[in-house]
Amino acid sequence: MIRHFTHVFSDLAALRAEVANGDMARAARGARSILVQVYCASGSPEHICGITGLLAKLLPTATVVGATTVGEIAAGRLLTNQTIIGFSFFESSRLHAIALPCTRGGESGTGAALGRRIRVSASDIAGVLLLATPLSIDLDPLFAALEPEVGDFPLFGGGAGDYTRMLNTCVFADGEIMDAGIVAVVFASTQLALQCEAYLGWIPVSHPMTVTRTDGPFVKEIDGRPAFDIYRRYLGARRDDSFYMAALEFPLLVERDGQWVARVPVAACEDDSLQFLGDIATGEVVHIGYGDAGTIIEHAGEVQAASAAFAPNVVFMYSCGCRRFLLQEDVERESLPFEALAPTFGFFTYGEFFADGPPPGMQASPGGARRLHLLNSALVAVGLREGEPAPAAESAAQRPGRTAPAPDDPYDSQHTRVISKLLHFIKAVTSELEATNRELERRSVTDTLTQLANRIRLDESLEAQLAAAIRSGTPFSVVLLDIDHFKHVNDTCGHLAGDRVLVAIAQVLKTHIRGTDGVGRWGGEEFLVVCPDTGIAQAAQLAERLRQAIARQAIPEVGHCTASLGVAAYRPGDDAPSLIARADRALYEAKDAGRNRVGRA
Ligand code: GH3
Ligand code: MG
Ligand code: MG
Repeated sequence: MIRHFTHVFSDLAALRAEVANGDMARAARGARSILVQVYCASGSPEHICGITGLLAKLLPTATVVGATTVGEIAAGRLLTNQTIIGFSFFESSRLHAIALPCTRGGESGTGAALGRRIRVSASDIAGVLLLATPLSIDLDPLFAALEPEVGDFPLFGGGAGDYTRMLNTCVFADGEIMDAGIVAVVFASTQLALQCEAYLGWIPVSHPMTVTRTDGPFVKEIDGRPAFDIYRRYLGARRDDSFYMAALEFPLLVERDGQWVARVPVAACEDDSLQFLGDIATGEVVHIGYGDAGTIIEHAGEVQAASAAFAPNVVFMYSCGCRRFLLQEDVERESLPFEALAPTFGFFTYGEFFADGPPPGMQASPGGARRLHLLNSALVAVGLREGEPAPAAESAAQRPGRTAPAPDDPYDSQHTRVISKLLHFIKAVTSELEATNRELERRSVTDTLTQLANRIRLDESLEAQLAAAIRSGTPFSVVLLDIDHFKHVNDTCGHLAGDRVLVAIAQVLKTHIRGTDGVGRWGGEEFLVVCPDTGIAQAAQLAERLRQAIARQAIPEVGHCTASLGVAAYRPGDDAPSLIARADRALYEAKDAGRNRVGRA
C-alpha cells in the first residue's frame, strides 16, 4: 500500500525534524520509491531550492516535483498562501520523472518528445502525473502531440497557478525549475490501481453565442463583434488588470461530446480579443457559464461513494482556482469527503489535465476522439492504491483535527445555497426573457390581421433572394396580388366584412403556395408571394392556381371575390423596387384587361 504524509511548510528545521523522525522515517525505510510533491504559493527560486535541496539530502532517492499554486489542498482542507509538501511512500511502484523545458511555438515538438520518453520509461505504466505552465506555453498543441505517443493509462495533473498577477508561475522536478515547461512523473507497477474522476459543475447562464473569429489562443470575435464585448456587457468587466478576476468564475462553456467544457479567458487584449488557456474553435457555440454550487457539492458526495468502493490509499486532487473563488470556504465540501477515505492532497490550478483509462474490458481506440483533455474550472481527483483494497478506512470524523460540519447547522453552506438560488433566478429570468423576445420577434414581422408575414419580413426575404441571385445566379420570381373591387366590398358589406375577406384570402394563399415560397401582406388589400428558384413560367402557373383558388372560395356574407395578379422574374441588374415595379405594371395590365386574371412582365 501507499503511505502518504502531508507537511505544511513553516521552516526548514521543522521540515527536517518531521522527515527525519517517527512515522515518516519508518515509511521511507520500507518504501521502494518515494514521490514528493511540493505545491507552493511562492514561485521564488530561493524558497523552492531551499526546500528541494534539503529534501535531496534527507531523501536522496525520492522523486521531487512541484508547481506554484493559487491555493493548496492538504488533508482535504483549503489552505491559502502556503507551501505544502506531500510525501507518498510506494511499496512496489517505481517512479520516473521527466522534465522538459518548452518555448512558445515549440509545444508540438515538446509534446511528442515527452510522449516518447514516457512510452519507453516502463512497460507497466499505471498512470502519469503531469505538471505544466499554461500561462507561458500553449498546452493544447502540446497535449495533441503527446497523446498519440502514449498508451491508454490515465494521465492527470494541473497547471501551475499564481496568486499575483499571473506573472510568476513555474514547475520543477529534481532540482530543475522551469518558468516554461512540463514535468511528468510516470508511475510504473502492476500492483498500482488508479481511479480518476474529472468533474465540472458549471452550467450555461447566457443565451448561445457563436465564435466567429479566432487566432491561436485568441478569440477575436463572438457573434461578429469583438469578443471582449460580451464580458463588458454582461459582467461589467473592464479591459485592464482586473479582467482576469472579473471573468474567472464566468468561463465560456462549449458543448463537446455531450459534455460542457469550460474555457476561462485569462486576458482581454487591446484589440478587444480574449486570450484563453484552452482551445476554442471558430464556429463553436459558447455560453457564459457559472458554477452551480449546489450540484457541485452534491456531486462530491456521489464521487466519494464511488471512491469508497475503490478504497484508495491516497487521493491526489487538482482543482481549478476558480472553484476556490466560487465556493470560498465551502470548496472544502468537495475535497473533505475524500479525506474520509484517504489522505487528500493537491492544489488549485490554472488548468486541469485529464485522460481516463479505457472503460473496463475495452481497448482505447487509436485515432479516436481526444482523450487527454485540457480542462478549465474542473476538478480532477485521482485515487491511488497499491495491492488489494484495505479494510474500510477510518472516517474523517474519527480522525483527529478534522471537523465535519454539523449536519443540522442552518448556517452551514449558506454561501452555496445563495449561489444556487441566484443561478436558479437567472435561469428563470433568462428563459422568460428569451420566450418574450421570441414572441416580440415574431410579432415584429407578422401582419396582425392576416397573421402572414408583414412588409418588413417581405422586404427581408426579397433582399435575401436578390443577394442569392447576384451571388450565384439563382433565379427567383414574385407574384403581386390585388383584390378586385375591394372598395365595393367595404362599401356594401362593411369594413369588418372586408377584413374577413382579407383573412380568408390570406388563408387561401397560405394553403396553395409551396413550402419554399414566402407570402405576406404587401399593404392594404395587396399580397406578395416570393418564389425562390422559380422562373417566370412557373411563377405564372402558381399565380393562375392562386387566382382560381380565390375565385372558388366562398366567403360568408360576402360571397365570392376575385383578384388580379402580376408576375415578374428577377433580371440581372434588378433591385427590389425595380422588380416590384415590373410586377405592379403586370398587375395593372391584368386590371385593365378586365380583372380576375394574371399579367406577366
Ligand atoms: P381595384 O379592383 O381597382 O383594385 O379596385 P379596389 O376597389 O380594390 O381599389 P383599391 O385597390 O384602390 O382599393 C383598396 C381598398 O382597400 C381601399 C381601402 O379602403 C381598402 N382597404 C385597405 N386596407 C384595408 C383593410 O385592412 N381592411 C379593409 N376592410 N379594407 C381595406
Ligand atoms: Mg389596391
Ligand atoms: Mg383592389
